[in-house]
Amino acid sequence: MSHPFTHADWQRLAGELTFETRAWLGEAFVEAAGGERFATVNPATGEMLAEVAACDAPEAEAAVRHARAAVERGDWARAAPAERKRILLRLAELMEAHKNELALIDTLDMGKPITSSLGDLSGAINCIRYNAESIDKVYGEVAPTGEESLGLVLREPLGVVVAIVPWNFPLMMTAWKIGPALAAGNSVILKPSEKSPLSALRLARLAKEAGLPDGVFQVLPGFGHTVGKALALSMGVDCLAFTGSTAVGKQLMQYAGQSNLKRVYLECGGKSPNLVFADCRDLDAVARHAAEAIFHNQGEVCIAGSRLLVDNAIREAFVDKLLAAAETMQPGDPLDPASFMGAIVDRTQYERVLDYIRRGVAEGAVLRRGGEPLEGAGLFIPPTVFDGVTPAMAIGREEVFGPVLAVFGFDSEDQAVHLANDSEYGLAAGLWSQDIDRIMRVARRLQSGQVFVNNWAGGDMTVPFGGVKQSGNGRDKSHHSLAEYSELKTVWMTLAP
Ligand code: NAD
Repeated sequence: MSHPFTHADWQRLAGELTFETRAWLGEAFVEAAGGERFATVNPATGEMLAEVAACDAPEAEAAVRHARAAVERGDWARAAPAERKRILLRLAELMEAHKNELALIDTLDMGKPITSSLGDLSGAINCIRYNAESIDKVYGEVAPTGEESLGLVLREPLGVVVAIVPWNFPLMMTAWKIGPALAAGNSVILKPSEKSPLSALRLARLAKEAGLPDGVFQVLPGFGHTVGKALALSMGVDCLAFTGSTAVGKQLMQYAGQSNLKRVYLECGGKSPNLVFADCRDLDAVARHAAEAIFHNQGEVCIAGSRLLVDNAIREAFVDKLLAAAETMQPGDPLDPASFMGAIVDRTQYERVLDYIRRGVAEGAVLRRGGEPLEGAGLFIPPTVFDGVTPAMAIGREEVFGPVLAVFGFDSEDQAVHLANDSEYGLAAGLWSQDIDRIMRVARRLQSGQVFVNNWAGGDMTVPFGGVKQSGNGRDKSHHSLAEYSELKTVWMTLAP
Protein backbone atom coordinates (compact mmCIF):
# COMPACT_ATOMS: atom_id res chain seq x y z
CA MET A 1 0.00 0.00 0.00
CA SER A 2 1.47 3.36 -0.94
CA HIS A 3 2.06 5.94 1.78
CA PRO A 4 -0.62 8.66 2.01
CA PHE A 5 1.80 11.59 2.54
CA THR A 6 2.60 13.89 -0.39
CA HIS A 7 5.81 15.78 -1.10
CA ALA A 8 4.26 18.86 0.57
CA ASP A 9 3.30 16.82 3.67
CA TRP A 10 6.88 15.62 4.12
CA GLN A 11 8.25 19.14 3.61
CA ARG A 12 5.88 20.48 6.26
CA LEU A 13 6.77 17.69 8.72
CA ALA A 14 10.48 18.28 8.10
CA GLY A 15 10.01 21.94 9.08
CA GLU A 16 8.37 20.90 12.37
CA LEU A 17 11.01 18.34 13.46
CA THR A 18 13.24 18.84 16.47
CA PHE A 19 16.26 16.62 17.16
CA GLU A 20 17.77 15.04 20.24
CA THR A 21 21.48 15.82 19.96
CA ARG A 22 22.89 14.57 23.28
CA ALA A 23 24.36 11.16 24.05
CA TRP A 24 22.13 8.62 25.83
CA LEU A 25 24.42 7.51 28.62
CA GLY A 26 23.30 5.41 31.59
CA GLU A 27 19.95 6.91 32.44
CA ALA A 28 20.37 10.43 31.05
CA PHE A 29 20.86 12.47 27.89
CA VAL A 30 24.22 14.22 28.31
CA GLU A 31 26.63 16.47 26.45
CA ALA A 32 30.17 15.21 25.83
CA ALA A 33 32.37 15.87 28.88
CA GLY A 34 34.50 18.42 27.03
CA GLY A 35 31.44 20.01 25.42
CA GLU A 36 32.60 19.06 21.90
CA ARG A 37 30.00 18.84 19.16
CA PHE A 38 29.98 18.00 15.48
CA ALA A 39 27.66 19.20 12.71
CA THR A 40 25.34 16.96 10.78
CA VAL A 41 24.27 18.33 7.41
CA ASN A 42 21.37 17.58 5.06
CA PRO A 43 23.22 16.56 1.86
CA ALA A 44 20.22 17.38 -0.34
CA THR A 45 20.33 21.08 0.61
CA GLY A 46 23.70 21.71 2.28
CA GLU A 47 21.90 23.02 5.40
CA MET A 48 23.11 22.11 8.85
CA LEU A 49 20.49 20.06 10.68
CA ALA A 50 22.01 19.99 14.15
CA GLU A 51 25.18 19.93 16.20
CA VAL A 52 25.56 16.64 18.04
CA ALA A 53 27.54 15.68 21.16
CA ALA A 54 30.94 14.34 20.05
CA CYS A 55 31.62 11.54 22.53
CA ASP A 56 35.13 10.33 23.23
CA ALA A 57 36.99 8.08 25.68
CA PRO A 58 35.37 9.45 28.87
CA GLU A 59 31.87 8.69 27.55
CA ALA A 60 33.02 5.28 26.31
CA GLU A 61 34.37 4.43 29.77
CA ALA A 62 31.23 5.64 31.51
CA ALA A 63 28.96 3.76 29.12
CA VAL A 64 30.89 0.51 29.63
CA ARG A 65 30.59 1.00 33.40
CA HIS A 66 26.81 1.45 33.15
CA ALA A 67 26.50 -1.50 30.79
CA ARG A 68 28.52 -3.77 33.09
CA ALA A 69 26.49 -2.65 36.09
CA ALA A 70 23.35 -3.66 34.22
CA VAL A 71 24.85 -7.08 33.48
CA GLU A 72 25.66 -7.51 37.18
CA ARG A 73 22.20 -6.38 38.29
CA GLY A 74 20.73 -8.93 35.93
CA ASP A 75 17.38 -7.18 35.50
CA TRP A 76 17.79 -7.71 31.75
CA ALA A 77 20.50 -10.35 31.37
CA ARG A 78 18.83 -12.77 33.78
CA ALA A 79 15.23 -11.69 33.20
CA ALA A 80 12.86 -14.36 31.94
CA PRO A 81 12.95 -14.46 28.14
CA ALA A 82 9.21 -13.75 28.10
CA GLU A 83 9.87 -10.47 29.93
CA ARG A 84 12.52 -9.39 27.44
CA LYS A 85 10.12 -10.33 24.68
CA ARG A 86 7.37 -8.13 26.15
CA ILE A 87 9.63 -5.07 26.29
CA LEU A 88 11.13 -5.55 22.84
CA LEU A 89 7.67 -5.98 21.32
CA ARG A 90 6.73 -2.72 23.01
CA LEU A 91 9.80 -1.09 21.42
CA ALA A 92 8.69 -2.37 18.01
CA GLU A 93 5.21 -0.91 18.64
CA LEU A 94 6.69 2.46 19.55
CA MET A 95 8.86 2.43 16.44
CA GLU A 96 5.76 1.68 14.40
CA ALA A 97 3.92 4.58 16.05
CA HIS A 98 6.87 6.90 15.23
CA LYS A 99 7.67 5.40 11.85
CA ASN A 100 7.14 8.57 9.81
CA GLU A 101 9.26 10.65 12.15
CA LEU A 102 12.12 8.12 12.26
CA ALA A 103 12.09 7.69 8.47
CA LEU A 104 12.10 11.44 7.98
CA ILE A 105 15.08 11.89 10.32
CA ASP A 106 17.12 9.37 8.30
CA THR A 107 16.13 10.98 5.00
CA LEU A 108 17.15 14.45 6.18
CA ASP A 109 20.34 13.19 7.82
CA MET A 110 21.75 11.07 4.99
CA GLY A 111 19.86 11.99 1.84
CA LYS A 112 18.01 8.80 0.89
CA PRO A 113 14.51 9.06 -0.62
CA ILE A 114 11.69 9.03 1.91
CA THR A 115 10.13 5.93 0.33
CA SER A 116 13.43 4.11 0.92
CA SER A 117 13.60 5.25 4.54
CA LEU A 118 10.05 4.02 5.13
CA GLY A 119 11.08 0.64 3.70
CA ASP A 120 14.11 0.59 6.04
CA LEU A 121 11.86 1.30 9.00
CA SER A 122 9.58 -1.59 8.10
CA GLY A 123 12.66 -3.82 7.96
CA ALA A 124 13.98 -2.49 11.27
CA ILE A 125 10.66 -2.95 13.09
CA ASN A 126 10.26 -6.42 11.63
CA CYS A 127 13.76 -7.33 12.87
CA ILE A 128 13.05 -6.21 16.44
CA ARG A 129 9.77 -8.18 16.37
CA TYR A 130 11.37 -11.30 14.91
CA ASN A 131 14.04 -11.39 17.62
CA ALA A 132 11.57 -10.59 20.38
CA GLU A 133 9.34 -13.42 19.19
CA SER A 134 12.26 -15.83 18.90
CA ILE A 135 13.82 -15.41 22.28
CA ASP A 136 11.43 -17.56 24.28
CA LYS A 137 11.63 -20.34 21.70
CA VAL A 138 15.34 -21.07 22.05
CA TYR A 139 16.02 -24.19 24.13
CA GLY A 140 19.23 -25.40 25.73
CA GLU A 141 20.41 -28.98 25.24
CA VAL A 142 20.80 -32.11 27.30
CA ALA A 143 23.88 -34.02 26.17
CA PRO A 144 23.56 -37.76 25.38
CA THR A 145 25.29 -39.15 28.48
CA GLY A 146 25.00 -42.36 30.48
CA GLU A 147 22.70 -42.46 33.52
CA GLU A 148 25.52 -41.52 35.91
CA SER A 149 25.89 -37.99 34.49
CA LEU A 150 23.85 -35.07 33.27
CA GLY A 151 25.39 -32.77 30.68
CA LEU A 152 23.56 -29.47 30.16
CA VAL A 153 24.42 -27.08 27.34
CA LEU A 154 23.09 -23.64 28.30
CA ARG A 155 22.96 -20.41 26.34
CA GLU A 156 23.95 -17.27 28.23
CA PRO A 157 24.29 -13.62 27.14
CA LEU A 158 27.80 -12.52 26.14
CA GLY A 159 27.65 -9.48 28.45
CA VAL A 160 28.37 -6.08 26.85
CA VAL A 161 27.97 -5.77 23.09
CA VAL A 162 29.13 -2.66 21.21
CA ALA A 163 27.33 -2.11 17.91
CA ILE A 164 29.16 0.12 15.43
CA VAL A 165 27.07 0.89 12.37
CA PRO A 166 27.29 2.84 9.09
CA TRP A 167 25.13 5.57 7.61
CA ASN A 168 23.59 3.97 4.52
CA PHE A 169 20.68 2.24 6.29
CA PRO A 170 21.00 3.89 9.72
CA LEU A 171 18.10 2.31 11.59
CA MET A 172 17.94 -0.96 9.71
CA MET A 173 21.63 -1.73 10.33
CA THR A 174 21.06 -0.72 13.95
CA ALA A 175 18.10 -3.08 14.31
CA TRP A 176 20.02 -5.98 12.73
CA LYS A 177 22.54 -5.66 15.59
CA ILE A 178 20.53 -4.55 18.60
CA GLY A 179 17.52 -6.81 17.87
CA PRO A 180 19.33 -10.12 18.46
CA ALA A 181 21.89 -8.69 20.94
CA LEU A 182 19.18 -7.30 23.25
CA ALA A 183 16.91 -10.30 22.81
CA ALA A 184 19.76 -12.58 23.91
CA GLY A 185 20.07 -10.57 27.15
CA ASN A 186 23.11 -8.40 26.49
CA SER A 187 23.70 -4.76 27.38
CA VAL A 188 24.23 -2.86 24.14
CA ILE A 189 26.17 0.33 23.44
CA LEU A 190 25.36 1.72 20.00
CA LYS A 191 27.85 3.91 18.11
CA PRO A 192 25.95 5.33 15.11
CA SER A 193 27.83 6.78 12.16
CA GLU A 194 28.92 10.39 12.56
CA LYS A 195 27.16 10.98 9.21
CA SER A 196 23.72 9.87 10.46
CA PRO A 197 23.51 10.03 14.27
CA LEU A 198 20.04 11.55 14.75
CA SER A 199 17.65 8.61 14.40
CA ALA A 200 19.63 6.49 16.90
CA LEU A 201 19.21 9.22 19.50
CA ARG A 202 15.46 9.32 18.84
CA LEU A 203 15.41 5.54 19.20
CA ALA A 204 17.05 5.88 22.63
CA ARG A 205 13.99 7.74 23.95
CA LEU A 206 11.69 5.06 22.57
CA ALA A 207 13.81 2.34 24.19
CA LYS A 208 13.51 4.08 27.54
CA GLU A 209 9.74 4.44 27.05
CA ALA A 210 9.48 0.75 26.14
CA GLY A 211 10.97 -0.15 29.52
CA LEU A 212 14.56 -1.21 28.81
CA PRO A 213 16.38 -0.96 32.17
CA ASP A 214 19.07 1.71 32.64
CA GLY A 215 22.41 0.88 31.05
CA VAL A 216 20.97 -1.89 28.88
CA PHE A 217 20.80 0.30 25.78
CA GLN A 218 23.00 3.38 25.35
CA VAL A 219 23.83 5.56 22.34
CA LEU A 220 27.15 7.35 21.93
CA PRO A 221 27.37 9.60 18.86
CA GLY A 222 30.83 10.62 17.70
CA PHE A 223 33.68 9.70 15.42
CA GLY A 224 35.13 6.28 14.77
CA HIS A 225 38.71 7.15 15.64
CA THR A 226 37.66 8.64 18.99
CA VAL A 227 34.69 7.06 20.76
CA GLY A 228 34.49 4.09 18.37
CA LYS A 229 38.12 3.18 18.96
CA ALA A 230 37.82 3.67 22.74
CA LEU A 231 34.87 1.28 22.85
CA ALA A 232 36.61 -1.25 20.62
CA LEU A 233 39.72 -1.25 22.83
CA SER A 234 37.77 -1.47 26.10
CA MET A 235 38.51 -4.38 28.40
CA GLY A 236 34.90 -4.25 29.60
CA VAL A 237 33.35 -5.03 26.22
CA ASP A 238 32.69 -8.64 25.24
CA CYS A 239 31.70 -8.28 21.59
CA LEU A 240 31.97 -5.85 18.68
CA ALA A 241 29.13 -6.11 16.20
CA PHE A 242 30.21 -4.07 13.20
CA THR A 243 28.81 -3.05 9.86
CA GLY A 244 31.01 -0.82 7.72
CA SER A 245 34.06 -0.81 5.50
CA THR A 246 36.57 -3.63 5.24
CA ALA A 247 39.41 -1.26 6.24
CA VAL A 248 37.75 -0.40 9.56
CA GLY A 249 36.74 -4.05 10.08
CA LYS A 250 40.44 -4.97 9.95
CA GLN A 251 41.23 -2.29 12.54
CA LEU A 252 38.58 -3.66 14.89
CA MET A 253 40.15 -7.11 14.76
CA GLN A 254 43.46 -5.53 15.76
CA TYR A 255 41.82 -3.66 18.65
CA ALA A 256 40.35 -6.94 19.88
CA GLY A 257 43.79 -8.54 19.74
CA GLN A 258 45.36 -5.60 21.56
CA SER A 259 42.77 -5.72 24.34
CA ASN A 260 40.73 -8.67 25.57
CA LEU A 261 40.09 -10.90 22.53
CA LYS A 262 36.49 -9.76 22.43
CA ARG A 263 34.42 -11.38 19.71
CA VAL A 264 34.34 -9.37 16.48
CA TYR A 265 31.49 -9.86 14.02
CA LEU A 266 32.07 -8.05 10.75
CA GLU A 267 29.68 -7.12 7.95
CA CYS A 268 31.91 -5.28 5.51
CA GLY A 269 32.08 -4.07 1.93
CA GLY A 270 31.30 -5.67 -1.39
CA LYS A 271 31.72 -5.50 -5.16
CA SER A 272 28.88 -7.79 -6.03
CA PRO A 273 28.62 -9.47 -9.44
CA ASN A 274 25.29 -9.78 -11.23
CA LEU A 275 25.42 -12.44 -13.98
CA VAL A 276 23.03 -12.27 -16.92
CA PHE A 277 22.90 -15.33 -19.18
CA ALA A 278 21.53 -15.20 -22.71
CA ASP A 279 18.69 -17.66 -22.01
CA CYS A 280 16.63 -15.19 -19.91
CA ARG A 281 13.04 -14.91 -21.15
CA ASP A 282 12.29 -11.25 -20.38
CA LEU A 283 15.44 -9.20 -20.90
CA ASP A 284 13.58 -5.89 -20.39
CA ALA A 285 12.60 -6.94 -16.88
CA VAL A 286 16.09 -8.25 -16.11
CA ALA A 287 17.61 -4.95 -17.32
CA ARG A 288 15.27 -3.00 -15.03
CA HIS A 289 16.20 -5.17 -12.05
CA ALA A 290 19.90 -4.88 -12.87
CA ALA A 291 19.59 -1.08 -12.91
CA GLU A 292 17.72 -1.08 -9.59
CA ALA A 293 20.39 -3.37 -8.13
CA ILE A 294 22.99 -0.64 -8.51
CA PHE A 295 21.01 2.62 -8.41
CA HIS A 296 18.78 1.88 -5.40
CA ASN A 297 19.81 4.04 -2.41
CA GLN A 298 22.16 6.02 -4.75
CA GLY A 299 24.36 2.93 -4.99
CA GLU A 300 25.23 3.34 -1.31
CA VAL A 301 24.42 -0.28 -0.58
CA CYS A 302 26.83 -2.95 0.64
CA ILE A 303 25.18 -5.47 -1.70
CA ALA A 304 24.88 -3.09 -4.66
CA GLY A 305 25.05 -5.09 -7.90
CA SER A 306 27.98 -2.95 -9.00
CA ARG A 307 29.53 -5.43 -11.45
CA LEU A 308 27.17 -6.46 -14.24
CA LEU A 309 28.44 -9.50 -16.15
CA VAL A 310 26.56 -10.03 -19.42
CA ASP A 311 26.82 -12.79 -22.01
CA ASN A 312 28.47 -11.15 -25.02
CA ALA A 313 25.82 -12.74 -27.27
CA ILE A 314 23.22 -10.29 -25.89
CA ARG A 315 25.42 -7.61 -24.36
CA GLU A 316 24.86 -4.78 -26.82
CA ALA A 317 21.07 -5.09 -26.81
CA PHE A 318 21.01 -5.66 -23.05
CA VAL A 319 23.06 -2.56 -22.25
CA ASP A 320 20.65 -0.48 -24.39
CA LYS A 321 17.74 -1.78 -22.33
CA LEU A 322 19.65 -1.07 -19.12
CA LEU A 323 20.35 2.52 -20.20
CA ALA A 324 16.64 3.01 -20.92
CA ALA A 325 15.80 1.70 -17.43
CA ALA A 326 18.44 3.95 -15.81
CA GLU A 327 16.82 6.95 -17.50
CA THR A 328 13.79 6.48 -15.22
CA MET A 329 15.90 6.37 -12.02
CA GLN A 330 17.14 9.95 -11.76
CA PRO A 331 17.96 11.61 -8.42
CA GLY A 332 15.54 14.15 -6.99
CA ASP A 333 14.42 15.78 -3.73
CA PRO A 334 14.53 12.98 -1.13
CA LEU A 335 11.30 14.33 0.39
CA ASP A 336 9.45 13.74 -2.88
CA PRO A 337 7.90 10.25 -2.84
CA ALA A 338 8.44 10.15 -6.62
CA SER A 339 12.25 10.36 -6.32
CA PHE A 340 13.98 7.05 -7.02
CA MET A 341 17.41 8.27 -5.87
CA GLY A 342 18.35 10.94 -3.34
CA ALA A 343 21.56 12.79 -2.47
CA ILE A 344 25.01 11.31 -1.77
CA VAL A 345 25.58 11.28 1.99
CA ASP A 346 28.29 13.97 2.25
CA ARG A 347 30.90 15.86 0.28
CA THR A 348 33.69 13.37 1.04
CA GLN A 349 31.68 10.47 -0.39
CA TYR A 350 30.52 12.63 -3.33
CA GLU A 351 34.11 13.54 -4.25
CA ARG A 352 35.13 9.88 -3.87
CA VAL A 353 32.43 8.75 -6.31
CA LEU A 354 33.33 11.49 -8.83
CA ASP A 355 36.98 10.52 -8.52
CA TYR A 356 36.14 6.91 -9.41
CA ILE A 357 34.20 8.15 -12.44
CA ARG A 358 37.24 10.16 -13.61
CA ARG A 359 39.46 7.10 -13.09
CA GLY A 360 37.05 4.93 -15.09
CA VAL A 361 37.35 7.31 -18.05
CA ALA A 362 41.13 7.60 -17.66
CA GLU A 363 41.54 3.81 -17.54
CA GLY A 364 39.67 3.38 -20.82
CA ALA A 365 36.20 2.16 -19.81
CA VAL A 366 33.39 3.40 -22.07
CA LEU A 367 31.15 5.91 -20.28
CA ARG A 368 27.66 5.18 -21.66
CA ARG A 369 25.64 7.57 -19.49
CA GLY A 370 25.87 9.90 -16.45
CA GLY A 371 29.20 10.89 -14.98
CA GLU A 372 28.42 14.56 -14.36
CA PRO A 373 26.89 15.67 -11.04
CA LEU A 374 23.76 17.85 -11.00
CA GLU A 375 24.29 21.57 -10.48
CA GLY A 376 23.18 23.19 -7.22
CA ALA A 377 23.83 22.96 -3.49
CA GLY A 378 22.67 19.32 -3.16
CA LEU A 379 25.03 16.39 -3.70
CA PHE A 380 23.31 14.56 -6.56
CA ILE A 381 25.00 12.17 -9.00
CA PRO A 382 22.88 10.61 -11.76
CA PRO A 383 22.98 6.92 -12.73
CA THR A 384 26.37 6.32 -14.34
CA VAL A 385 27.11 3.34 -16.57
CA PHE A 386 30.50 2.17 -17.85
CA ASP A 387 30.76 -0.59 -20.44
CA GLY A 388 33.86 -2.52 -21.48
CA VAL A 389 35.19 -2.70 -17.92
CA THR A 390 38.01 -5.11 -17.04
CA PRO A 391 39.08 -6.48 -13.65
CA ALA A 392 42.27 -4.41 -13.82
CA MET A 393 40.35 -1.13 -13.65
CA ALA A 394 39.64 0.56 -10.30
CA ILE A 395 35.89 0.79 -11.10
CA GLY A 396 35.91 -2.94 -11.87
CA ARG A 397 37.55 -3.97 -8.62
CA GLU A 398 37.07 -1.44 -5.81
CA GLU A 399 33.89 -0.58 -3.92
CA VAL A 400 32.70 2.81 -5.22
CA PHE A 401 29.64 3.03 -2.96
CA GLY A 402 27.78 5.29 -5.38
CA PRO A 403 25.56 5.07 -8.49
CA VAL A 404 28.27 3.74 -10.80
CA LEU A 405 27.79 0.49 -12.72
CA ALA A 406 30.67 -1.46 -14.30
CA VAL A 407 29.59 -3.71 -17.20
CA PHE A 408 31.76 -6.68 -18.23
CA GLY A 409 31.21 -9.16 -21.07
CA PHE A 410 31.71 -12.93 -20.95
CA ASP A 411 31.73 -15.71 -23.53
CA SER A 412 31.18 -18.81 -21.40
CA GLU A 413 29.77 -19.92 -18.06
CA ASP A 414 33.28 -20.71 -16.82
CA GLN A 415 34.52 -17.24 -17.70
CA ALA A 416 31.50 -15.66 -15.99
CA VAL A 417 32.16 -17.58 -12.76
CA HIS A 418 35.86 -16.77 -12.91
CA LEU A 419 35.17 -13.05 -13.38
CA ALA A 420 32.57 -13.07 -10.59
CA ASN A 421 34.95 -14.72 -8.11
CA ASP A 422 37.91 -12.55 -9.08
CA SER A 423 37.37 -10.20 -6.13
CA GLU A 424 38.57 -9.75 -2.58
CA TYR A 425 34.91 -9.45 -1.61
CA GLY A 426 32.17 -12.08 -1.37
CA LEU A 427 29.01 -10.45 -0.08
CA ALA A 428 26.31 -11.00 -2.70
CA ALA A 429 25.91 -12.29 -6.24
CA GLY A 430 22.99 -12.45 -8.64
CA LEU A 431 22.32 -14.79 -11.48
CA TRP A 432 19.65 -14.57 -14.15
CA SER A 433 18.83 -17.64 -16.22
CA GLN A 434 15.99 -20.06 -17.01
CA ASP A 435 18.24 -23.11 -17.03
CA ILE A 436 17.85 -24.89 -13.69
CA ASP A 437 21.00 -26.97 -14.19
CA ARG A 438 23.03 -23.85 -14.84
CA ILE A 439 21.41 -22.06 -11.88
CA MET A 440 22.42 -24.81 -9.45
CA ARG A 441 25.89 -25.20 -10.95
CA VAL A 442 26.69 -21.50 -10.89
CA ALA A 443 25.03 -20.75 -7.51
CA ARG A 444 27.27 -23.33 -5.86
CA ARG A 445 30.43 -22.07 -7.55
CA LEU A 446 29.94 -18.40 -6.67
CA GLN A 447 32.04 -17.34 -3.66
CA SER A 448 29.40 -15.28 -1.92
CA GLY A 449 27.46 -15.11 1.33
CA GLN A 450 24.22 -14.92 -0.62
CA VAL A 451 23.18 -15.69 -4.18
CA PHE A 452 20.04 -14.15 -5.65
CA VAL A 453 18.50 -16.18 -8.46
CA ASN A 454 16.25 -14.26 -10.85
CA ASN A 455 15.95 -11.40 -8.35
CA TRP A 456 18.25 -8.96 -6.63
CA ALA A 457 18.38 -8.49 -2.84
CA GLY A 458 15.51 -10.87 -2.18
CA GLY A 459 15.07 -12.38 1.28
CA ASP A 460 13.43 -11.75 4.63
CA MET A 461 14.22 -12.16 8.34
CA THR A 462 14.27 -15.95 8.09
CA VAL A 463 17.53 -16.14 6.13
CA PRO A 464 21.02 -15.12 7.29
CA PHE A 465 22.78 -12.15 5.72
CA GLY A 466 26.55 -11.75 5.57
CA GLY A 467 29.66 -12.25 3.53
CA VAL A 468 32.69 -14.42 2.89
CA LYS A 469 36.27 -13.40 2.06
CA GLN A 470 36.91 -9.75 2.99
CA SER A 471 33.19 -8.97 3.12
CA GLY A 472 33.18 -10.20 6.71
CA ASN A 473 32.61 -13.09 9.04
CA GLY A 474 29.30 -12.37 10.77
CA ARG A 475 25.68 -13.12 9.98
CA ASP A 476 22.79 -10.72 10.54
CA LYS A 477 19.12 -11.82 10.54
CA SER A 478 17.56 -15.23 11.21
CA HIS A 479 18.08 -17.43 14.29
CA HIS A 480 21.75 -17.73 13.32
CA SER A 481 22.36 -14.09 14.31
CA LEU A 482 20.52 -14.59 17.60
CA ALA A 483 22.85 -17.50 18.37
CA GLU A 484 25.90 -15.28 17.72
CA TYR A 485 25.00 -13.06 20.68
CA SER A 486 25.00 -15.85 23.25
CA GLU A 487 27.70 -18.03 24.76
CA LEU A 488 27.44 -21.78 25.22
CA LYS A 489 28.03 -22.98 28.77
CA THR A 490 28.46 -26.62 29.70
CA VAL A 491 27.24 -27.82 33.09
CA TRP A 492 28.34 -31.41 33.77
CA MET A 493 26.72 -33.03 36.80
CA THR A 494 27.75 -36.31 38.31
CA LEU A 495 24.71 -38.09 39.69
CA ALA A 496 24.90 -40.12 42.87
CA PRO A 497 24.68 -43.86 42.15
P1 NAD B 1 33.10 3.03 7.87
O1 NAD B 1 33.83 1.75 8.02
O2 NAD B 1 33.83 4.24 7.49
O3 NAD B 1 32.33 3.39 9.23
C1 NAD B 1 31.45 2.47 9.85
C2 NAD B 1 31.39 2.79 11.33
O4 NAD B 1 32.66 2.53 11.90
C3 NAD B 1 31.05 4.25 11.65
O5 NAD B 1 30.19 4.30 12.75
C4 NAD B 1 32.42 4.82 11.98
O6 NAD B 1 32.36 5.94 12.84
C5 NAD B 1 33.07 3.64 12.68
N1 NAD B 1 34.54 3.68 12.70
C6 NAD B 1 35.38 4.22 11.78
N2 NAD B 1 36.66 4.08 12.17
C7 NAD B 1 36.64 3.45 13.36
C8 NAD B 1 37.64 3.02 14.28
N3 NAD B 1 38.95 3.23 14.05
N4 NAD B 1 37.26 2.39 15.41
C9 NAD B 1 35.95 2.15 15.67
N5 NAD B 1 34.96 2.55 14.86
C10 NAD B 1 35.29 3.19 13.70
O7 NAD B 1 31.92 2.72 6.83
P2 NAD B 1 30.79 3.70 6.31
O8 NAD B 1 31.39 4.66 5.34
O9 NAD B 1 30.00 4.24 7.44
O10 NAD B 1 29.83 2.69 5.55
C11 NAD B 1 30.10 2.24 4.27
C12 NAD B 1 30.69 0.85 4.30
O11 NAD B 1 29.82 -0.02 5.03
C13 NAD B 1 30.80 0.24 2.93
O12 NAD B 1 32.05 -0.40 2.79
C14 NAD B 1 29.68 -0.78 2.89
O13 NAD B 1 29.87 -1.83 2.01
C15 NAD B 1 29.64 -1.23 4.31
N6 NAD B 1 28.35 -1.84 4.64
C16 NAD B 1 28.29 -3.21 4.79
C17 NAD B 1 27.07 -3.83 5.07
C18 NAD B 1 26.99 -5.31 5.25
O14 NAD B 1 25.99 -5.78 5.79
N7 NAD B 1 27.98 -6.09 4.85
C19 NAD B 1 25.91 -3.06 5.19
C20 NAD B 1 26.00 -1.68 5.03
C21 NAD B 1 27.23 -1.08 4.75
